Amino acid sequence: MPEELFPGAQPQHLYHEMVRRLLAPLGFTAANTIACVGVCRDELTSSFVDGVQRLWGEAFNLGSLAGMAFLGRTGLAAAISHAPTGFDRQRFLFFALSHLGVGEDGEVGMCVRPGQNTPTPACGALIAFRKELLSGQVSLELDPEDLELSLLRRRLYPRLVDRPVPPLAELTELALEVTLEDLERAIALTVDPREADYAVFTGIQIHAPGGHLVWPGSSYAVIAGQRHPLALAKA
Ligand SMILES: [Zn+2]
Repeated sequence: MPEELFPGAQPQHLYHEMVRRLLAPLGFTAANTIACVGVCRDELTSSFVDGVQRLWGEAFNLGSLAGMAFLGRTGLAAAISHAPTGFDRQRFLFFALSHLGVGEDGEVGMCVRPGQNTPTPACGALIAFRKELLSGQVSLELDPEDLELSLLRRRLYPRLVDRPVPPLAELTELALEVTLEDLERAIALTVDPREADYAVFTGIQIHAPGGHLVWPGSSYAVIAGQRHPLALAKA
C-alpha cells in the first residue's frame, strides 16, 4: 500500500495547499510568481498540474517521459523569462515529480485508468526501462525515433551498473534524484539569485485506488541567495 511504500504520502490537494502555506511568508504569490511543472507526459499526472494552476496561474511545462527534466538551459531560460514583472524581485516556483501507479490489490506500477477496465503500467517509461535492465539488453545509443527514452536510459543507467535491478519504487526514486540534478543544473545556468527568489519542490505522485497522493521529496526555497529547507509534514 502507498503509505507503507512511501511514508508521509498525502492527498494531492493537501500537498498543494501546504506548498502555498509554506511559500506565502516567503513572499511568493500567484501574482508575482511563475510556476513551472515537471511531470511525466502521462495524462494521469494532469491533475497535479491542474492543482498547481488553480493556485498559481498557468504553468510552464518542464517535463518529459517519466518527468525527466530534459529541457536544458534554453528551456529553463524561456520559463524564467515568462515570470511576472513589476515586482521587487522575480519569483520562480519549480516542481519536479516522478510518478507511480498502485493497483487495487496493491500491485506497484499498475493502475486502472478512467475509461479502461484492466490495469496498465505507470510510469510506463520507467517500467519499459526496468524490463530492459532485467533482460540485460540496454542500448545507450541516442535513438532519434525514441529520443526521450534514450535520454532517460543514458541518465539512469550509469547509476545502476554493478548492482541488482532495483524494484520499481526504488527506480522511481532514482529517476526523481536525477531529475532534480538536471533541474538544479539548468537553474544554476539561468537563474541569478541576486535578482530572483525561487523554490523547488520534488516528490512522487502516486496514483492510488482512492485518488492521487504525493510523497514529498527534497524541497527548499532560495531567498536572496540563501537556501531554506522546506518541510512538508503530514497535516
Ligand atoms: Zn510516466
